Order: sequence, then structure tokens, then C-alpha cells
Amino acid sequence: MNIQDKTREELISELKELQQENNSLENLYNETSRLKKSEEDLIASEIRYRRLFESAKDGILILDAATGKIVDVNPFLINLLGFSHEQFIEKTIWEMGSFKDIIANQDKFLELQKNNYVRYHDLPILTNRGQKIQVEFVSNVYVSDNKNVIQCNIRDITTQIETEKELIKAKEQAEESDQLKSAFLANMSHEIRTPMNGILGFADLLKNPNLTGTKQQQYIQIIEKSGARMLNIINDIISISKIESGLMEVNLSKSNINEQVEYIYTFFKPEIEDKKILFSYKNSLPFSKAFIKTDREKLFAVLTNLVKNAIKYSKKGAIELGYNKKDKYLEFYVKDSGIGIDSNRQEAIFERFIQAEISDKNAYQGAGLGLSISKAYVEILGGKIWVESEKGIGSTFYFTIPYTPELTESVASVYGIPHSEIEVQVKNLNILIAEDDETSDTLISTMLEENSSKISHAKNGLEAIELCRNNADTDLILMDIKMPKMDGYEATQQIRRFNKDVIVIALTAYGLAGDREKAIVAGCNEYISKPIMKKELLSLLQLYFNKHESN
Ligand code: ADP
Repeated sequence: MNIQDKTREELISELKELQQENNSLENLYNETSRLKKSEEDLIASEIRYRRLFESAKDGILILDAATGKIVDVNPFLINLLGFSHEQFIEKTIWEMGSFKDIIANQDKFLELQKNNYVRYHDLPILTNRGQKIQVEFVSNVYVSDNKNVIQCNIRDITTQIETEKELIKAKEQAEESDQLKSAFLANMSHEIRTPMNGILGFADLLKNPNLTGTKQQQYIQIIEKSGARMLNIINDIISISKIESGLMEVNLSKSNINEQVEYIYTFFKPEIEDKKILFSYKNSLPFSKAFIKTDREKLFAVLTNLVKNAIKYSKKGAIELGYNKKDKYLEFYVKDSGIGIDSNRQEAIFERFIQAEISDKNAYQGAGLGLSISKAYVEILGGKIWVESEKGIGSTFYFTIPYTPELTESVASVYGIPHSEIEVQVKNLNILIAEDDETSDTLISTMLEENSSKISHAKNGLEAIELCRNNADTDLILMDIKMPKMDGYEATQQIRRFNKDVIVIALTAYGLAGDREKAIVAGCNEYISKPIMKKELLSLLQLYFNKHESN
């Protein structure tokens, strides 16, 4: 039928049909475009995900949520754990070994996973290389390809944990050292104030013109004792500060240990016998084999400390000092029959400020530093220190130092004087005192009054050189080290250029280890540190001038 033959109604109806057809075609086109777009989007996001998966800086494992088997693993985890891709796939993480002991068991893990999210902070796992690392483990469930999968993210936090631990340790150390600093200050304040109280208090009482001679002597003795205690504390503070700051030097030299033991015996005998306690010593090597190379000042300090403690903590009985040779070591001991130490305090007493009797801290004076200094010294010398003790029966302190024999003839030493000889008087010496401090000068002059025929005085190094040059018959120079214009080291060096015979004894107020060596290198014969004790000074005169006379 031609279009002309169609009625108007027919034509309208056909047109409507055509329009409808056209609409559904357009709809179909639109729908197809939309589907195509979402497929492209899906592919693009899958590519993006894959890229993230491949390049992630954390390990990622994909598990089948039903079986727990690994379906995918990213390169970072392969590298971190050292397994190949194949070694992961189709295994459960429990079969991998790395995690097996840690995430209690598979059922529990899958059960926990039903709540969608599992997180373990700080989980130790083992790599294929046998290395233990700490990881943070987080897993989530999601649906992929109509299946539930579990994505596990594994982050290596080994370095972070180590850094955290180090920071915590540093914080604890800082807190501990802060506490120690406060304890140190509190202790020192108490320890210094107590003898100062004795010194200033009794010096004040001495002003009373009506005091009897006996009272005066009694007060003077208290002042002396307090001064000696003060000096001990100052020496201990200097030593512990040097040990703490790592500045403690070791000065090795030849030393005869028999002489040292004998000197300590002679030095403490009067004090011990005053307490009605027996005192004995035992040198187990013959004199010629008793020369060793060691730091004699440190050895001396340790022995002195132990004997002083034995005296302090004993009221009766006996004290014995000595040593035995044990293989390559010398084992020294100081034995007492004093108050003894509880077994649970026998280690702690070697720590700073620790005293055995915590409850009654002030029963015996002391800062609790002596043994910690002794321990540090013994360890610096290459030995050990320990105690065997029974409460109420007594203690024996032992320490070792290496036996490093030195085959030498006896060296002149202040420790070498047999104590019987000390009684002999040295007289008529021509003495020069080089000292800028007036009080010290007066003190030395007074101490040496009976030993001298003439005493000259220099106020600095230059004057000392001049006086020595103009008085060739000078026997002895007491040379202060710290003086204006020229110090004692320099002055001694210059004097040695024209006078090799005069005996020079260096005097210092520092009392630091190493000073003796410096003085000897400068040309001094001996060294003593202030405060000068008459007994020590006379021992040196004895050593140098009695020998000279008998030669
Ligand atoms: P201080 O004697 O100044 O307190 P030390 O470090 O020398 O400090 O000694 C620490 C502690 O060890 C003392 O306070 C004391 O309790 C105990 N001690 C040391 N030597 C002896 C000893 N021979 N007998 C009993 N106790 C001792």
C-alpha cells in the first residue's frame, strides 16, 4: 500500500510505533555505554589495586576465608620473609612455619576473623633465613569474585620496637641518674656537714681560756679526727667522679707488694692495737719475687680501704692482712672478726652509697663509697673483688690482681722502710721550702724544726731556683707544685740542670692519681699530697737521708 492510500489515523499510529522503537534503541545504547563504562572503571580500579598490591611497602597476604589457604602474596612479603611465591601459594599461613606458633591456631584465627578484623601488635615471626623479626599484623575480610577473602597486612616493626626499647632504657637511665644525683647530694651534704660540725664546734670551744690542758688535748683530737674524715670524703668524691666520668687513669709501675703490705701493717698497727685487736700480716712470696707491674696507688687504696673497714666494723678479735699466689693471680685478703654482713647484702655493699645495715644507717659513719671505689680499682687492674662473711662472726674480703712479675732489684720507695728504723732521727738538714701559702709554709717549718740546721723560704718557682743556685749545700727542697710566676714542675726541671743531688719532694693539694708520675718525670724524688702528715714526711727523710749518711 502506498503512503497516499493510508488514512491519516494509520499514518499517526505508524509514526508512534517508529518513535517507540527509536526510544528503546536509544535506551539500549545508553545502557550499553553505561555497562561499558563501569567495566572500564572496574578494570582501571583493579589495575590500580594491583599496582598498590605490587608496590606496597608492607607485606600483603590474601587468604581464602573458608580454607585459610594463601591465594596471593605481594613482592614485599616475599622479600621480607625470604620464601618464593610458589612456597606461599595454596598453603595455610600455619604451614608456612613463620606464623605457626604465634597466631594460636587456624580455627581460632578463622573464628576471630568472622568479626571481620584481627590485629596483633608486636608479633614475633621467623623468616626463612632463620631471623626473628617483630611485625604488626592486621587482617580484614572482604568479598572478591563472590568469595570471602581475608587480606592480611604485615608491617615489619623490628627497628621501631628496638628504638622504642632504647628510648625507654635511656629514659630509665636518665631517671636513675637523676635519683642517684639527688642521693649523692643528700649523702655528701650529710657526710661533709658532720665532720665540719666537729671541726668548727670544737675550734669554737677551744677559745675558752679556762679550759684544762686535758680538755684542750681532747678537743684537738676531735678536730684532727673530723679533719681526717673530711679528707677521706673529699678523696672518695674525687675518685668516684673520676671513675664515673671515665677519666680514671692507670699508671703502671714496678712495685714490691711485700713492701706495700708491710707499710700498711706498720701504718695501721698502732690504731688497731689501741682497740685491743690483734693485727698480723702474711706475705707469701719471697721479697725478690714480689715485684710486679701494677698501679701501686690503686692497690694501696684498695688495701687501705679494706683494712680501714675491718677496723671500723670490729670491736674485738683479730685482723689479718695478706696475699697468696693463685696461678696467674695474686689473691689478697683482709680478714676480721667483726660484725659480719648478712648474706643478702654481700653483693649490694659494692654498689655506691650502699651500706649493709639499711635500718641503722648512721650507726657507723661512712658514705658507702669505699667498696665501690675499691671494686672499680680492682676491675681496672684486671681482677675481681668479693666477700665471704657470717653475721656476728666476721668477714674476709678477697680481691685478685694479675701476677705480672718484674725481675728487678728493690726500688727506693717510701714503702720500703722497715718500721723499726723510723725511730732514728735525721738532723741538721739544710732545707728550702718553696711554698706560696703562708700557713703551709709555717706548718712544714714547724714539722721540720728538729731536723734542720737552716730553713730558707721561696714564694715562687723563680725564687726557689735562685735560692738553690746560691746555696749549693741545700739538702732538701719541699716544692709546692702550684705556685705563682713558675710552678714546681718547671722549677724542679730547671734546678736539675745544675743540681742533680738535692732531694726534691713535691707537694700538691690536688691529690689526683697521675700527679706522682708527673712529679717524678719533672725530676722530683718523691711526692706527697696535702694535707701533709708529719709521720709521712719523716718517713721520707728517713728513706733519703739515713741511707745517704750510711753510704
Ligand atoms: P662505708 O664503710 O663508708 O659505709 P663502704 O663502701 O666501705 O662504705 O662499705 C659499704 C658497707 O659494707 C658498709 O657500710 C658496711 O655496712 C659494710 N662493710 C664493709 N666492710 C665491712 C666489714 N669489714 N665488716 C662488716 N661490714 C662491712
